[in-house]
Amino acid sequence: MDKFSILNQYFGYTAFRPGQESLIDAVLDGKDVFGIMPTGGGKSMCYQIPALLLPGVTFVVSPLISLMMDQVMALKAAGIPAAYINSTLSAPQMQAVYRNLLRGQYKIVYVAPERLDYGGFSSVAARLNISFIAVDEAHCISQWGQDFRPSYLRILNFIAGLPKRPVVGAFTATATKQVREDVERILALQSPVRAMTGFDRANLYFEVLHPESKDTQLLQMVASRRNKSGIIYCSTRKNVERVCESLLDHGYCATRYHAGLSEQERHQNQRSFLYDEKKIMVATNAFGMGIDKSNVSYVIHYNMPKSIEAYYQEAGRAGRDGMNAECILFFSGSDVATARFLINNASDNEELTPTQKDTIHRQELARLESMIGYCKTDQCLRGYILEYFGQKHPEICGNCSTCKGGYDEKDITREAQMILSCIQRIYHKLGRWCDISLVARVLQGFPDSRVREGQLDQLSTYGLMKTTGRSTIRAIADQLEQEGYLRTDEQSKAVSLTPLASQVLYQGKDVTMLIRKEPNTEQDVENTMSDADADLYDLLNDVRSQLARKSAIPPDVVLTNPTLVEMAKRKPKNTSEFRRLPGIGELKTQWYAQAFLKVIRRFRKEQES
Ligand code: ADP
Ligand code: MG
Repeated sequence: MDKFSILNQYFGYTAFRPGQESLIDAVLDGKDVFGIMPTGGGKSMCYQIPALLLPGVTFVVSPLISLMMDQVMALKAAGIPAAYINSTLSAPQMQAVYRNLLRGQYKIVYVAPERLDYGGFSSVAARLNISFIAVDEAHCISQWGQDFRPSYLRILNFIAGLPKRPVVGAFTATATKQVREDVERILALQSPVRAMTGFDRANLYFEVLHPESKDTQLLQMVASRRNKSGIIYCSTRKNVERVCESLLDHGYCATRYHAGLSEQERHQNQRSFLYDEKKIMVATNAFGMGIDKSNVSYVIHYNMPKSIEAYYQEAGRAGRDGMNAECILFFSGSDVATARFLINNASDNEELTPTQKDTIHRQELARLESMIGYCKTDQCLRGYILEYFGQKHPEICGNCSTCKGGYDEKDITREAQMILSCIQRIYHKLGRWCDISLVARVLQGFPDSRVREGQLDQLSTYGLMKTTGRSTIRAIADQLEQEGYLRTDEQSKAVSLTPLASQVLYQGKDVTMLIRKEPNTEQDVENTMSDADADLYDLLNDVRSQLARKSAIPPDVVLTNPTLVEMAKRKPKNTSEFRRLPGIGELKTQWYAQAFLKVIRRFRKEQES
């Protein structure tokens, strides 16, 4: 067997992606490697294929239990002998895995970093022929990264304790220079062969919205994406609860995930999302790293995340299967306050020294600024992200809201003055600051109960912006907050003026704002199918669901969406045509061909008659 036949026989692909081949060759050559590729770039293949070709066993260090369980499940579905070692195994299960290991029954074993210095594990490891150690999500070893995990530091000791040093490989999607250097240094990679592929994910569409009401906007968005899987990220547990509830109230099939839920419920909810039983996952950033679900077709950020790294990682969970997918961020000025609050009140990591903590804190605030910049930029959004990661890019990508819609710069000094002055007048009338929706009501001359109770209809600013939509008023207020004239209180949502506001109110300072032209959104690879192919796709999709249920694995582990699309288009007549579909290997042909071919045959007949 060589690497090509493994790629084809087990995974059903005919060509390597950028970076894969050079890393695989290097490992087979006995050299250390360092692979830096974006999420969905195909890093797993870079250690799974060598694992099958090398003698003995390959260990994969992976930070999350759910991640390793998913990967082992997918490997088994492709007919590869694999196992994992982590705290979910009972003592007898663990013994069984150790026994099989010593008998040489596995080619790939995933290990949690915490396990590496357990006595039992080390003594088993010392008796094995370990050819290769792959460190997945290797950025976890760096405290400059997003997900520093001190347990990753144990890897080095573990390697040092082995009778013979195996080839070591590191893999990550984090490209910042500092993290890269840390990974190489701490893991003590020996003149590694590096592959750093571009970070662009051309199939992802990026958009930033400043919705008047995030809830209304969200309901509109999920309504037009009903049959697709999506993740909605919120910055707080409270928002997760609220948003999820609202979706359920409106009849959507949603579930939730955050650190406040019991482990059992988190597991259950994640599972029902992976298995497509629930289409929408509403979650905090606790949901994510290692979510290998390939068919997520949109990721909506209900709140702005704290950094571009976090954003790209979370948004990047869309479209892993290579199909077109959307990454949409809802921005409001108060997100900035929330993000600052979260950064300033992050739980203490006791393993860090005060100086380290201080450095990390300062870096986080700097990262936040770049994130805010993304929400405000008039550049190509993809360009902004790639630039942040230090990658060259064309000026116009053609697949983000800027490039598709574009902005106009507008002078909003007058509107800004009206809003600021209205806020001030309400404050004087009521003796306290109020929220932005009340301000908008007053400006629009909308006599609702709060307006009447406070006699706010007597203010001179009442009805001053009668013809302006509420979303515009909010968008301008967001802009004013970003420029430091306003501040939204994290708890009460009350909007107050800052000392800077007087520059606009009394000193004629200009305010401008970029107004987005109507973007052209909806786009869908499935739409490139003819109607007939789409009908067949639906039938094949049902077959896939049945097969998934029968074998108790997620549908996209049975076959991915791109495979299903190709199948609907090509309509294979026999097993050898079936085998040639992308993503179909030997075992999947054996297991699944008949079920699909039967439906395709029936479909053809009906088409002909
Ligand atoms: P990463 O770990 O880099 O985020 P994965 O290893 O999970 O990415 O791979 C993402 C997807 O790409 C998987 O569905 C995988 O099967 C697919 N893939 C990997 N290599 C290839 C290839 N050479 N050709 C086609 N698809 C591939
Ligand atoms: Mg991966």
